[in-house]
Amino acid sequence: MFDCVIIGAGPAGGTAAYHLAKEGRSVLVLEKASLPRYKPCGGGVSPLVAQWFDFDFSPAISLKIKTIRYTWAMGDPVEADLATPEPI
Ligand SMILES: Cc1cc2nc3c(=O)[nH]c(=O)nc-3n(C[C@H](O)[C@H](O)[C@H](O)COP(=O)(O)OP(=O)(O)OC[C@H]3O[C@@H](n4cnc5c(N)ncnc54)[C@H](O)[C@@H]3O)c2cc1C
Repeated sequence: MFDCVIIGAGPAGGTAAYHLAKEGRSVLVLEKASLPRYKPCGGGVSPLVAQWFDFDFSPAISLKIKTIRYTWAMGDPVEADLATPEPI
């Protein structure tokens, strides 16, 4: 028996599991993929998200950015300045 069963160990499920476990709940995470799963990702973490965690992301940061460029097939780029209090 577990207090919580979480289906999927993506950012949402992983975060939920982390915080529930920190609160003393027993948590079972069920993930259909083998971890680390294949996941195309920019690797960007918003400071607004990082503040939800009680550990330091600094050792994993290789670059801080204030602008994102969106493209389709490397064409028609659109640049957007980020409105976060700190760089992503
Ligand atoms: C190309 C690309 C780049 C991105 N770059 C960034 C970025 O730089 N920064 C950022 O913040 N976001 C980025 N994102 C967005 C980010 O990937 C998503 O917002 C995030 O993955 C959503 O998390 P989630 O946990 O809701 O879902 P998911 O990441 O989809 O996780 C769901 C998990 O549930 C598992 N699952 C599904 N069904 C079952 C089942 N029946 N049983 C067991 N397990 C199951 C899946 O295998 C998966 O691991 C990017 C997305 C894409 C496509």
